[in-house]
Amino acid sequence: MSFIATTPFVLDGIAIAGQIKAELLTDIDSARERGYTPGLAVILVGEVPASQIYVRSKVKTCGELGIYSEMHTPPASATTEELLALVTSLNAREEIDGILIQLPLPAHVDTSLLLEAIHPTKDVDGFHPINAGRLLSGFPAEQVLAPCTPAGIMEVLQRSKIPVAGQRAVVLGRSNIVGKPAAAMLLNASATVTICHSRTKDLAEITREADILVAAIGRAGFVSADMVRPGVTIIDVGMNRIETQEEVDRFFPGNATRRAAFEKRGSTLMGDVDPAAFAISGAYTPVPGGVGALTIAMLMSNTVKAARLRRG
Ligand code: NAP
Repeated sequence: MSFIATTPFVLDGIAIAGQIKAELLTDIDSARERGYTPGLAVILVGEVPASQIYVRSKVKTCGELGIYSEMHTPPASATTEELLALVTSLNAREEIDGILIQLPLPAHVDTSLLLEAIHPTKDVDGFHPINAGRLLSGFPAEQVLAPCTPAGIMEVLQRSKIPVAGQRAVVLGRSNIVGKPAAAMLLNASATVTICHSRTKDLAEITREADILVAAIGRAGFVSADMVRPGVTIIDVGMNRIETQEEVDRFFPGNATRRAAFEKRGSTLMGDVDPAAFAISGAYTPVPGGVGALTIAMLMSNTVKAARLRRG
């Protein structure tokens, strides 16, 4: 079959996040009519600047949508036991529907133990083994609290009317946060899924077979044009800062906007995919403005869903 080159379609994560948040406003109104306001508790341990920025925008979005939120900010010296006690108290509170522990936690804290201590009905990040198991078992999507970034990927595909059933999906990366749940969700949507990772042999041969390629490895511009087939849908999850002029010139030749951003800040954000690969795709999520824009919207969606599932 010959491929007729067309301009790739940009999958606009900001617009899709806007649609999701608009729909949530209606859901939150009907929750109020039933007598409750969905509530999210965010735990931010210590003072990691990037985490502070993420948490602030999560709390701000709660405010915009009318979701109740509260922040807990134990010091970096907090012990696993102290944090467990906090999670236990939040589990017991009726008005709290979602508990989010901002990662990463300080090295001395047992992250797995804490994530497992969150009651599965309040696990709005979808990291609890019970929710991971439900996802893998193919429970109906409306009954599962699934991790936010992969849930955002599925929203992009579904709302952009990109066929998934029967398509060959290749997921680069096998983290519990992105790669594995993204693969499970694509499989649940009847794609034929291959997961690749750092030990995968003949990676480019596999990625070239993809109708849908999800890149979640955390390496700037790793997926080159010769690793994809023309017309592929590319979902670029990577969020990488490039900090050298050489990289900017290599990945964004002649791109004045990128050059200006780099000159202003000394770095620019890019995904795991070389823009030269986007250029031959059928559709792609840009970085920034793609999947990243959806993660907070899906956290809000999970909070409203958790409230509905628990409170009816
Ligand atoms: P992670 O936990 O570091 O996992 C990276 C995965 O990529 C691992 O499975 C690793 O394989 C694989 N990998 C690394 N180098 C590779 C290579 N050369 N070839 C093939 N596979 C390779 O990362 P993550 O948390 O999943 O995040 C991935 C990226 O997504 C990061 O850039 C992160 O910032 C971004 N992210 C974005 C959002 C968002 O947009 N909201 C959310 C989460 C993450 P092994 O397992 O074999 O080591």
